[in-house]
Amino acid sequence: MPIAKRMKRALWSGLGTVGKALHLGGVPILTYHSLDPSGSLISVSPAAFAAQMEYLHRHGFRALSLRDYVARLALGSLPARGAFVITFDDGFRNVHQIALPILRRLGYTATVFVPTDHVGGSATWTMRPGLPQLPLMSWEELAELQAAGLDIQSHACSHPFLTTLTPAEAERELVESKRTIEERLGNTADLFCYPYGDGNAAVAELLRSSGYRGAVTLEFGLNSPGADPLRLRRVGSAHFTSPAKFEACVWGMYTPLLRAKLRLRSALSSTPPDPRRGAV
Ligand SMILES: [Zn+2]
Repeated sequence: MPIAKRMKRALWSGLGTVGKALHLGGVPILTYHSLDPSGSLISVSPAAFAAQMEYLHRHGFRALSLRDYVARLALGSLPARGAFVITFDDGFRNVHQIALPILRRLGYTATVFVPTDHVGGSATWTMRPGLPQLPLMSWEELAELQAAGLDIQSHACSHPFLTTLTPAEAERELVESKRTIEERLGNTADLFCYPYGDGNAAVAELLRSSGYRGAVTLEFGLNSPGADPLRLRRVGSAHFTSPAKFEACVWGMYTPLLRAKLRLRSALSSTPPDPRRGAV
């Protein structure tokens, strides 16, 4: 292994150890999409996902539901450390095949965001080089997840860039996806995930007036007390490129480092980074 790579690996491993010792805490909302071996931007291998969940379980982490997280954030009663939230975007069938047995065995819950027009189909919006074309869960499979204690919530109807739609079109995406999930699954659909992470104040206001209580973005980071529940940051699996990086993330070490790096990069750059880059 080249020496630079070895040094980098040692650095991350050290950060994980320091993070664990300091346990800076925070309750990360982890973002996953697909559990498959393609190595794409949106993929985590089944073996890595199993190892990540086992690691959290072995170290006594509790999985909060996103619903519980949003309620506790409003009350200022989130645990300081030792808890996390699992989210899956898009509803890939491999969540049913791979994640469900693991989560069931460990007693972990998760929230799955589905674009309702595509349930039972495939992720046609990911037609870009390097992204896998994979099947999505059916309503029957989603009902099985719900019966196992997972929460199925809205990722709009058609997986659009919401800020490019008229207010009426955007409102239809929010209202109809909510209604469809509630009719199909008999639950309360009041949590949302912005497709491509694309949102603004007007979309957040439409979410509020449509009855949503929480919404997650693709912005990297933890949420401070008093954060807007309709613009929640998460910690994306694209950063879990090694066990050491994953560990640094869950012990609260990676988040401040990465945010500082992104801030520095945008301060030094004449063109601001595209927030949609790599987003799905
Ligand atoms: Zn998506």
